[in-house]
Amino acid sequence: MSPLSDLVRDVPDFPRPGIMFKDITPLLADAAAFAACIDALCSPWLGKGIGAVCGIESRGFIFGAAMARALDAGFVPVRKAGKLPPPVVGLDYGLEYGLDRLEIGAHAIAPGEKVIVVDDVLATGGTLEAARRLVERLGAEVCGGSVVLELAGLNGRSRWSGDAPLYALVGS
Ligand code: AMP
Repeated sequence: MSPLSDLVRDVPDFPRPGIMFKDITPLLADAAAFAACIDALCSPWLGKGIGAVCGIESRGFIFGAAMARALDAGFVPVRKAGKLPPPVVGLDYGLEYGLDRLEIGAHAIAPGEKVIVVDDVLATGGTLEAARRLVERLGAEVCGGSVVLELAGLNGRSRWSGDAPLYALVGS
């Protein structure tokens, strides 16, 4: 089986000039590699009593939902503004250029529930950290985060606050 990194395609200048887009669709399409990826993402969380996996729109849904199934946990979507029906709790956060907003169902997680936040790529780190803070606002216990790919050169890990672990399967 190919290493996971061989199944992530670099696409230069997409969706904008200067961006090296990490295309994870070859990894998703490879049954054995996708299964191995989900197993590896789940391994630090097995037996930790995780009640919900919070996946970030949109590619975090793919990995997060599969992880939730494997961990016998629920799946909770963290979505871009205006996509979830009310009541929602939202959080604005800074991007490299401008602002963005994530939302979560106001009653999607029980206070004190153990959750993890999941996305495909950690770039500047703003999105995953915003999701972490949002989930915390609902009173959940954030046990940590998982991503498939970390773009280490962008140092997104430095934005991840608190002591909870942040796991990346592949660094690049
Ligand atoms: P950031 O907040 O900068 O860490 O960006 C992470 C979010 O943007 C994730 O939801 C990724 O899906 C997406 N993203 C950022 N940079 C890339 C990239 N180079 N390739 C693919 N997705 C990216």
